[in-house]
Parts: sequence; C-alpha cells; structure tokens
Amino acid sequence: MSVNYGSIFNTRVTPQSQPIPGAGQTANSAGGFAWRVDDWTQLERFLILGSEGGTFYVSEQKLTVENAQAAVRCIQADGLRVVAQVADVSQNGKAAKNDPALFVLALATGLGDVETRRAALAALPAVARTGTHLFHFLEYVKGVRGWGRLLRNGVTAWYNGMEPGRLAYQAVKYQQRDGWSHRDALRLAKPVPASAQHDAIFGWIAKGWEDIGSDLPTDESLRLLWVYERARRATSEDEIRGLIREHRLTWEFVPSEWLGSSDVWAELLPNLPLGALLRNLGRMSANGLLVAGKPEVEAVAARLRDGEAIRRARVHPLAVLVAMKTYASGQGVRGSLKWERASAITNALDEAFYLAFENVEPTGKRVMLALDVSGSMGGPDIAGMPGISPRIASAALALVTMRTEQQVIVTGFTAGGGSPLMHGNRPGWGVTGISVLDLSPRQRLDDVVKRIDGLPFGATDCALPMLYALEKGLEVDAFVVYTDSETWAGSIHPSQALAQYRERTGIPARLVVVGMTSNGFSIADPKDPGMLDVVGMSTATPQVISQFIRG
Ligand code: CA
Repeated sequence: MSVNYGSIFNTRVTPQSQPIPGAGQTANSAGGFAWRVDDWTQLERFLILGSEGGTFYVSEQKLTVENAQAAVRCIQADGLRVVAQVADVSQNGKAAKNDPALFVLALATGLGDVETRRAALAALPAVARTGTHLFHFLEYVKGVRGWGRLLRNGVTAWYNGMEPGRLAYQAVKYQQRDGWSHRDALRLAKPVPASAQHDAIFGWIAKGWEDIGSDLPTDESLRLLWVYERARRATSEDEIRGLIREHRLTWEFVPSEWLGSSDVWAELLPNLPLGALLRNLGRMSANGLLVAGKPEVEAVAARLRDGEAIRRARVHPLAVLVAMKTYASGQGVRGSLKWERASAITNALDEAFYLAFENVEPTGKRVMLALDVSGSMGGPDIAGMPGISPRIASAALALVTMRTEQQVIVTGFTAGGGSPLMHGNRPGWGVTGISVLDLSPRQRLDDVVKRIDGLPFGATDCALPMLYALEKGLEVDAFVVYTDSETWAGSIHPSQALAQYRERTGIPARLVVVGMTSNGFSIADPKDPGMLDVVGMSTATPQVISQFIRG
C-alpha cells in the first residue's frame, strides 16, 4: 500500500487540527476545528456572559461585533422571540450583568419590524428596572435609531408607569450615568405627568429643591426626596444616624464622607439590601463592625443563608463568588482597606453561592464532570466579573452539580503529549493530561477555587474525558465538559471519542458542553440529540444540565 488513504480521510478518527469530513465544522480561534453554534445559542451565551473583556483569543471589540451580528440575525428571523428571551434572562436574573440584555433590546428597538419594536419598548420597564439601566439602553439605542414617536412613548411609559415612590427612588439614586441623566431623558421624551406626584418628581429632576423646609412632605412618595436633600446638607454624624433611624435613609444616599464610620454602618445594616451587603462586607469589616464574635456577624451570616431572600433579591452566584474572593483576600481591590476574616461569614458566603442557583434535581446517573483547565480557560474574567476566570467559574459551577449527584467524578484536563508544561514533575498529569481531581462536595468553594487556580496550564484536547473513561473502563452515562471549545491539540475529535465510547461500552452516553465564553464554537455535534450546549453561569445552568442528563 503506497498511500494509506484511510488515514488521510477518515470520518471516525480525525485530528482536531482538521475538520471531520462532511460534518460541517469550522475553524475555531485556536486553529482547531469545532462546530459553530446556531445564532440562538450564541444569543443566549451573549445574554448570559456578555463580551466584556473578550476571550483569550478574541478582543472585546471583535467578540461584541460577532455577537451583535448573531443577535441581529435572530431579530430578523424572529424578533418577538428575541424580545421574549431578553425579558426572560433579565427579569429572572439569569445573568450577572444586565447590559447585554439592554443592548439586544436596543437592537430590537432599532432594527426589528414594527411589531418587534413595539414589543421591545413594551418590555422596556421590565428589562430596564433602574435609572442606570434606562440610561444604558438610551445610549445603546442611539446607535441604531433616532428619537421617533415610538421611542418617546416607550420612555414616557417608563416614567409614567412607575409608581411614584419607586420613581422618586430611581430619580435620586441614579441621577446620571454615562453621559445621560433623567433630565436629558425627560427633555427628549416630553412626557405629560401621569399624576401630581409624577409632576413633582419631574420638577425635582428638572430644577431640584432650593428650599426643603423642616417638615416631611405629607405625600409619602415625596419623602425620599426630602430625606435625600436633608442628608446632603447634614453637618454631623448624629444627624446622619438620626435620618437613617427615623426616616430609613438608605446607604446609597449617605454622602461618602460619613461612610467610613462603623456607627453609621451599624444603623444601616438592618435594612441593607443583600447586593449592597455583599459589596460592602470588606468595608464593614475594615471599619470594625463585622468582627468575629460580634452579634452583627451572626446577623449577616443569617441573612446570607436565607435562600428565599437570596432568590427574591436575584443575587447572582457570580456576585457571591466575587464577594467571596474579595472577602477571603482580606483587603480591598485598591488595597486601601484591610480586614480580618470571620469564619461565620466565610461559611455563610459558601452557602449563599449554592442558594443563588435554581433548585436542581439529582439525576441518579453516573456523571463525569470534566473541567478544561487549559491556558485559554485562565483568560479574561467571565462576564466582566473581577478575578473570576472561566476556569474558576467552571469549578464553582461543577461543585453545584457535585453537591446534588451521588455518582459523580470530577476530572481536570489539558492536553497530553506535546505540551512542555505538562511534562516532568507532576505525576498523573504528565502523561495523559487528564486526572481525577480530589474534590469533595463538602469542601468549601474558596478551597476548591484555590486548588483549581493552582493547576498548571497547557494545550487543549477536549476528547480526553471520553478517552480517559475508555482507558480506565469507567461507566459514564453523561460527560459534562466545561470549556470554551477552543480545542486543537488532540488526535481525535471529542464527538468521535464519544462515538467510540458509546460503541465500545454499549452505554448511550450523553455529552453536555458548558460554554464558558460567548464565542461561537462548540464541540457538540448539533445533529446528535445526545449532545447539548448550555451556557455557563446562568442561574439555571445546573438545572438545565440535570434535565438533559435525565433525558
Ligand atoms: Ca484552551
């Protein structure tokens, strides 16, 4: 035999540096071949993960353009479905950040057909829930359309449809962001006030109050404006504490000069919303309020363990993860604040992370969770969350499934063979590039994160989990691979390795690909109903994985 044609053109064993013949694969950003996900999957990835910071391979700008183009194609194909999806992700708090949802809503408002544009603006109050959201939307929408009647009506409805007490809060809290203010928005929308209260709030937005008088306004919805104006003029800490006690002045309206005081925070703490609580743990520890043994520590820990409240406040697991990492570091991002940790808070943060996900049903199946720990997974922070790389996020996410399943093993993989990083001094890693990680569901998340963070980086071969299971004779009903699908280093494609696994073991194993970046690739064969793409770090991700594995 002079030429081994079969080794050159083979649909069953194809190196990842080449496409599987006839399977419709496309080159990924790492020079390997994978499938392009469909536009709807890409839209979902974008809504959940955004494009902030780009990926290891792709700049933020290029990634944003790719995602926007996919979103526009979806809007052209079925604009109403896009609006419904945006509203679902945003209202249910599935994403850590709301900006991608606002951006896609703006695209639908500018580029959809009439029906879509109407639906997009009807969804505006539900998706743009705060003043800042509204300003971001207005900035995005500027890029795709002008201020026609439809947009004016939509913005008018945002203001007039809001109950006055809530509107006053929005007006005071988010006065201006990113070059937009309520004054600008009202000037462009020209709403006729829906009520006397709306009229008074619009007046405050336009001109402020010169004379605030000494008495609370009788109209409840206007009280906040008065309390805010008083706080601005306060000259002593006692005065501020009095306003907090008597008039429920909230932390965001306390002028920053008083926010260094632990006495002020002691007054604020009982009514501090959960999101603000998470962001200010370090500050309250540094100023001496949250010190181990104090009753405040127990009160905070109790609130972090209140699953009901966590879900109601739409606290995202990524926000908890960021808080956990910051708190564990013992110092603020800028290094100006330093604190001692209290273990009651560390433990409660650990619990809060799991509580922030939707409830997951155990599958009862044999599951292998496989974490891609290759170089690219250490890339830019996921969803723009500071300090949270895709590999850290995937470890956290895997732990959620680990805690629900009985028969589960966790592996970490990078590429075997060719990677110089993987040779030599690490037994168990050097030869195959994959090993079982000795993680326990009882371990605390911050320990797991530290462990994953410390693993060596290498090349990428997403076929390794299936090959490893074959080699070791493991019985696996479902492989869950957490990856960016930038696979390139293997001698066989992941889908082919799965086919081999099914063939040789007789187990109709399923493959779930958990996409940890908003790039357009997947190792899952779209024609194989036994493979599924899910988006990493949605609050619903563990639940979707469990549903698919159960079948
Ligand atoms: Ca990689």
